[in-house]
Amino acid sequence: MNVNSIPFNKPYMTGRELWYITQAHTNGHLAGDGIFTKKCHAWLEARTGSLKALLTHSCTGALEMAAILADIQPGDEVIMPSYTFVSTANPFVLRGGVPVFVDIRLDTRNIDETKIEAAITPRTRAVVPVHYAGVACEMDAIMNIAARHNLLVIEDAAQGIMSTYKGKPLGSIGHLGVYSFHETKNIISGEGGALLINDERFSERAEIIREKGTNRSQFFRGQVDKYTWVDIGSSYLPGEVIAAFLWAQMEEADLITSKRLAIWSSYHQALAPLETAEKLRRPVVPKECKHNAHMYYIVLPNLETRTQTIAQMKRAGINTVFHYVPLHDAPYGKKHGRAHDDLPITRMTSDCLLRLPLWLGVEAYQQNVLDELFRCLW
Ligand SMILES: *Cc1c(COP(=O)(O)O)cnc(C)c1O
Repeated sequence: MNVNSIPFNKPYMTGRELWYITQAHTNGHLAGDGIFTKKCHAWLEARTGSLKALLTHSCTGALEMAAILADIQPGDEVIMPSYTFVSTANPFVLRGGVPVFVDIRLDTRNIDETKIEAAITPRTRAVVPVHYAGVACEMDAIMNIAARHNLLVIEDAAQGIMSTYKGKPLGSIGHLGVYSFHETKNIISGEGGALLINDERFSERAEIIREKGTNRSQFFRGQVDKYTWVDIGSSYLPGEVIAAFLWAQMEEADLITSKRLAIWSSYHQALAPLETAEKLRRPVVPKECKHNAHMYYIVLPNLETRTQTIAQMKRAGINTVFHYVPLHDAPYGKKHGRAHDDLPITRMTSDCLLRLPLWLGVEAYQQNVLDELFRCLW
């Protein structure tokens, strides 16, 4: 077995993707909202219980739609973690909004719900919880705060497909939710995403925004006799080639998730002794959360240890990666966002967290990864 290079990620194919793409071509419909897109919408709605699911060309695009639906105006504030991907913030900044960053929890690395209320001002419009690693934020507390302050909740469930919080699928709990089908996520189409609408106030307008600001979807359903420009919008829908690829993945979503969970559990069990010896911390999954094994990460004692570990693993041909330069510390975030208080856990996590390879097929190399990690840290 050649362990010269174990990639950090390797996109999984079920085997039916190309067949469905051929079918899409045979159907003679390659633009958006054909048969495969409708299959994906129906699957998402059935699996999440959301009122409406709409495929987008990316999760970033779905968040842009959410920011328009939330009617974010210049100066409006949106509360979110700093420890996240840039796309959590940028769609709101594009509307003139101001991201207000709060710290994360030490256990799940998710937004610390106890810090949200203090960051609310008269300009606050929305909260964007990010379900890091597919493990849910404390949604009951977040929904409660939002209700009391009349805020919208937009779940960044980019990493959270097939995960639940108290039995509810992530993305279906807030007013709006988003998924990513980027090749680094669990269920993929290369680039791709979806918007979940859980509040009927947004259903009709979401379709319009996604179709360049026109009422084209209503026209195709025969609800209006011509379609025209009625609102702002853009082209957020993917073509059928993407949807056909995605459909093959959705058909195997349960299998993909269970295989990932098995890999995750192997890492978790094998690394227990290193945690007991205080060489690292393992991820924590609260009992009300069922996760999707999106990611396996460890948290090392300090930045130096992490830098050395990445280098030594790399020399052994094993690619591990750290996560997130905090947005409040990034050049653009400093200028256009606002950190609420100091964010010590964000800073520490950004310095110390290390992600291990997790993809279908890595099982064959998992012992090599573990052996090398023990050599680094024991
Ligand atoms: C991947 C990711 C996104 C962006 O997804 P794209 O589909 O690449 O646009 C947004 N937020 C989080 C937390 C992500 O992990």
